[in-house]
Amino acid sequence: MESWQELLRKRSVASLEALVARFGAEHFPDLERLRQAAENFEFRISPAMVELITSPGDPIWRQYVPDLQYLEEHTEVRDVILSGGDPLLLSDRRIDEICRRLRAIGHIEIIRIGSRVPCHLPERITPALCAILKQYHPLYINTHFNHPDELTPAAVDALGRLADVGIPLGCQTVLLKGVNDDTEVMKRLMQRLLAARVRPYYIYMCDQVAGAEHFRTTVEKGLEIIRALRGWTSGLAVPHFVIDAPGGGGKIPLLPEYVESITDDAVVLRNYAGQRYVYRQPQPDTAPQAPTEFEPVLAG
Ligand SMILES: *Cc1c(COP(=O)(O)O)cnc(C)c1O
Repeated sequence: MESWQELLRKRSVASLEALVARFGAEHFPDLERLRQAAENFEFRISPAMVELITSPGDPIWRQYVPDLQYLEEHTEVRDVILSGGDPLLLSDRRIDEICRRLRAIGHIEIIRIGSRVPCHLPERITPALCAILKQYHPLYINTHFNHPDELTPAAVDALGRLADVGIPLGCQTVLLKGVNDDTEVMKRLMQRLLAARVRPYYIYMCDQVAGAEHFRTTVEKGLEIIRALRGWTSGLAVPHFVIDAPGGGGKIPLLPEYVESITDDAVVLRNYAGQRYVYRQPQPDTAPQAPTEFEPVLAG
């Protein structure tokens, strides 16, 4: 019997030739463009998935056969994110080629890369790579640091090299029990990121994935962390706190409650330190008046 390794090696479809042989040349009217895509997006369709494809263009096909055609046809796509695995583990040549091809599509305004390489393999951020990325602005990189100690001198240098070629850097942190579920640790992380020229972007609640239960903490802990940042340190150090809704629901922001009440006349607010303030709503029907101070309310 074939081992699973042999099965994967011998029965996968991993080249354009194998794809054409399997599904018929009539399904590949523009073979040349597909060849370009295949050159840059290595693919290997496992035997189980090859079996599942009933005809080219079906839902299984769309997931595994590489093509930039979708992006070319969908002119509403303005923003493309290259993400996990980790795009910065590709060779310089392939990163260059992928970015070049994306840039050739006129309606794609921004390219984003999501990568943990600046944290895990800062040596990968070579001057040669930076020189390549620099050609494809506007290009943003979101990286991923979870603990202030991860901002080693090597990581800080790597981030500096990216910033020096004009790449705006963000950080997506995941709230993890025993790692960063602590207001002081998070504040230090956010401040160190800023010092390393990275703007904290998101703190995520841990996804509900099998095997990660021990990392999960409460939503209240995340809110407590945001409360400990807002007003107590630079606003630049305060990321959005979000839950990435399961099933493609998108990111849902969570905010500590700073609004006590809203009426047509006024909004009652509580600031970071717990003091109450009243902001008067505009009153279009009354005669213009001298502006009143935005004053603290002593009651309460
Ligand atoms: C986070 C995320 C994005 C990007 O969302 P922004 O809020 O625009 O940064 C896109 N796709 C998926 C699947 C995501 O999880």
